[in-house]
Amino acid sequence: MAQKKVALACNECGSRNYTIAKKPDRSTRLEVKKYCKYCEKHTIHRETM
Ligand SMILES: [Zn+2]
Repeated sequence: MAQKKVALACNECGSRNYTIAKKPDRSTRLEVKKYCKYCEKHTIHRETM
């Protein structure tokens, strides 16, 4: 499998709450709104290296 695993980190507290499999042909930086248990609300999560 050539899928790359990337972690999604909360934009507010920096916690890496999610890990997703990302297709290698997509070069755009992912931004997803997800629930952060540390902030106790939905925040923007960005992919990290
Ligand atoms: Zn957070």
